[in-house]
Amino acid sequence: MIPAVMPTYARADVAFERGAGVYIWDTDGRRYLDFGAGVAVSALGHAHPHMVQALGEQGGKLWHCSNLYRVPGQEKLAGRLVGATFADTAFFTNSGVEAWECGAKLVRKYHSAKGQPQRWRIITAEGAFHGRTLAGISASGGEKLTKGFGPLVDGFDHVSWGNLNELRAAITEETAAICVEPIQGEGGIRPATLDYLRALRATADEFGILLYLDEIQTGYGRTGKLFAHEWAGITPDVMCVGKGIGGGFPLGACLATEAAAVGMTAGTHGSTYAGNPLAMAVGNAVLDVILSPGFLERVERIGRLLWQRVQPLAQRHPSVIAEVRGSGLMLGLKAVPPCGDVITALRAAGLLTVPASDNVIRLLPPLIIGEEHVEEAVAILDRVLSDQAAHA
Ligand SMILES: *Cc1c(COP(=O)(O)O)cnc(C)c1O
Repeated sequence: MIPAVMPTYARADVAFERGAGVYIWDTDGRRYLDFGAGVAVSALGHAHPHMVQALGEQGGKLWHCSNLYRVPGQEKLAGRLVGATFADTAFFTNSGVEAWECGAKLVRKYHSAKGQPQRWRIITAEGAFHGRTLAGISASGGEKLTKGFGPLVDGFDHVSWGNLNELRAAITEETAAICVEPIQGEGGIRPATLDYLRALRATADEFGILLYLDEIQTGYGRTGKLFAHEWAGITPDVMCVGKGIGGGFPLGACLATEAAAVGMTAGTHGSTYAGNPLAMAVGNAVLDVILSPGFLERVERIGRLLWQRVQPLAQRHPSVIAEVRGSGLMLGLKAVPPCGDVITALRAAGLLTVPASDNVIRLLPPLIIGEEHVEEAVAILDRVLSDQAAHA
């Protein structure tokens, strides 16, 4: 018999009841160190007092009013995002994939508004993940995401990740944009080199197409900068944001330059819930903390420490961990045995991590972790990896 909850997830048999900071407790009262953060979502950990207060205060005033009216929280959050990034304008959404899809629509609309409607195709990378709508899986392209869901949405051309010549060769008269993640997340923490990102910017300019970055997982401080593209010293024309932006409240945003958003006029795009006062109260509270003086520098510092402490573990247990990769607080441990077995063992030992493609264990802790949490995670990792090595 089919479960009442449609069985589309391969769930671990554990349920959580409450969280505080970087810890989360299951229904049996067991405590775990949360280095998954609900897949990079709980950027400020669990039950952050500033977020709890913002949600509570707004909850007693007004949850929803629709986008038929001005929403002051949107004006505030959009203004702050514009102030902190390349962008001139922001569209809010309820999820990452909706933010991604807004960007995909925007790049088509841009060329259409510029009198070049034939430019509608988007180049994406193999191993990419842009979300689970029909267009999202079509853009992502992997068999695991798309099998049985065809016919897919047309207009996405896939090229190998990191191969500039192949990408340039794929650009035609119909190309509207290049869309990539600065570090592929679901694909297995596969970073672009900074030179590759710079080359994508130059290529987009050369061909008169848009550079569209999916920073849903890499953004909001995850790599130690507000957005990962800052490391390369470039800016995109369009960017989608999700996950950490709401710190656990469903929220996403599509950011764009004024030039790129030229076609996004009244009536062209919308959403009932998106950017409602409740979401905006939380979104503004998250940003208060992320943009507070020294916060991102601290993330960068703690990210370096995590790298320094995890890298030797991999070297000590080569029969379990083949490679460590990533940036900041977004690390991938490429496993030798099935990564699911290691993740299960880590969970049993009190450490939550997240699987990714390419047999990778992701470490995506809340951005608020301290040195003591790094040491605690490393101690658990060392113990579990030793165990795994002994059984290999
Ligand atoms: C998670 C993710 C998405 C999809 O976000 P949802 O909120 O699940 O719709 C899209 N792109 C990237 C890079 C992601 O990591």
